Amino acid sequence: MAGSRTAAVAIAAADEFTMDKVYCANCTHCKLIRMSAGNGSQYYLRVRCDAGMWKKKLGEEKVYKYFTVARRTLDECEYYEPMGDIKDFLKELKKNLPIKDEIYSY
Ligand code: SF4
Repeated sequence: MAGSRTAAVAIAAADEFTMDKVYCANCTHCKLIRMSAGNGSQYYLRVRCDAGMWKKKLGEEKVYKYFTVARRTLDECEYYEPMGDIKDFLKELKKNLPIKDEIYSY
């Protein structure tokens, strides 16, 4: 299937997407969470890896701003569990992601 692989890579390049990476956004372990802000009636959206793969230097869990989730990539991950076709998923996700860190109200 060399032809279809070539086509996939070409499409990937057009979308700034590569088949060689693992995209955390397409993994069942990548979870969207609310993080309280201010007096507790507002929140930010964050993403966390519930397989415990995102860590700060000192070992605490690291979470990322939701609007950056499409950028979370790894060369490989032993816990990666894809949720579906990555190309279509990322395309849809990028259409719907906020462009900056938004604050939401409960
Ligand atoms: S398990 Fe691996 S691929 Fe999945 S969200 Fe965590 S770091 Fe990303």
